[in-house]
Amino acid sequence: MARVFSGIQPSGELHIGNYLGAVQNWVRLQHEHDCLFSIVDLHAITQPYDPGTLASLTADMAVSLFAAGLDPDKSIIFVQSHVAEHTELDWLLTTVTPLGELERQTQFKDKSQRQESVPAGLLAYPILQAADVLLYKASLVPVGEDQVQHLELMREIARRWNARYGEGYFPEPQPLLTKTKRVLGLDGKAKMSKSLGNTIGLFDSPETIWEKLRPAATDPARKTRKDPGNPDICNIFTIHQGFSPPETVAEVAHKCRTAGWGCLDCKRVLADNMIAALTPMRERADAIKREPARLLEWLRAGAGRARALAGRTIVEVRDRMGFLKAGGD
Ligand code: SF4
Repeated sequence: MARVFSGIQPSGELHIGNYLGAVQNWVRLQHEHDCLFSIVDLHAITQPYDPGTLASLTADMAVSLFAAGLDPDKSIIFVQSHVAEHTELDWLLTTVTPLGELERQTQFKDKSQRQESVPAGLLAYPILQAADVLLYKASLVPVGEDQVQHLELMREIARRWNARYGEGYFPEPQPLLTKTKRVLGLDGKAKMSKSLGNTIGLFDSPETIWEKLRPAATDPARKTRKDPGNPDICNIFTIHQGFSPPETVAEVAHKCRTAGWGCLDCKRVLADNMIAALTPMRERADAIKREPARLLEWLRAGAGRARALAGRTIVEVRDRMGFLKAGGD
């Protein structure tokens, strides 16, 4: 069974954008592969953040992942900073990573432009990503389009380390390109993001879901109910594809193109399907929140299983890199 690694930032409770864009796929993958999913808090601190809320945002993300269907008996689910081997391998890989490749990363260029003083951690971010994956010798990484360049760098780092210290030791991770949906915010313009206030939360109540969906942007060419629409450019249709069964999706496309119904009718069907899918998740989240000790125990056990794998890699890597063994090893 191939090993899969993927990470998500500790941004608090999930919204439907990051659920449909990543986590819904993870829930499927855990039945097909040997999966590790990490809440990557060490990555989160490369951007300005509030130390007063990092822990609670991490815990909220953990609740979301378990409530959305990640199963601690099937997958290894853990917080990145709970496994110190990530930072050790990160440093060791830093010594084989070409600076020019880091500077060429599009995400670094974008993010560094927005900061007055650029922390070195932002530049080194892809090395920590490489460490995350290589630590577990994962061969598959589910990636979005914006991560393809980082994955290529990860493969380059693995090749360089292997060439110097042990041909074939680290597998070169391959992208796992699965169909995920890129959902825009309710404004239909920007990416769905909490900072833009254009999200539907995974645990929003049925009333809130409808309140948010009702005024959401649709195909702007559909000015009146009689105008046919184009579902391919409508964000509501994209969300239908995430929550409605295939026959409903086909019906939506047909009724949109033929002006067979109004956008409000279309949204009402979507709201009902979303509520049916999200209600069990909200109930699971409420149950997990009532037992915070159980949540911490799941994360502790996940970190323990991750550490057992990571520890083996680190011992072998140190050995191949020629370090003197500490007494007792
Ligand atoms: S009918 Fe549905 S898919 Fe078509 S434009 Fe309106 S909301 Fe979008």
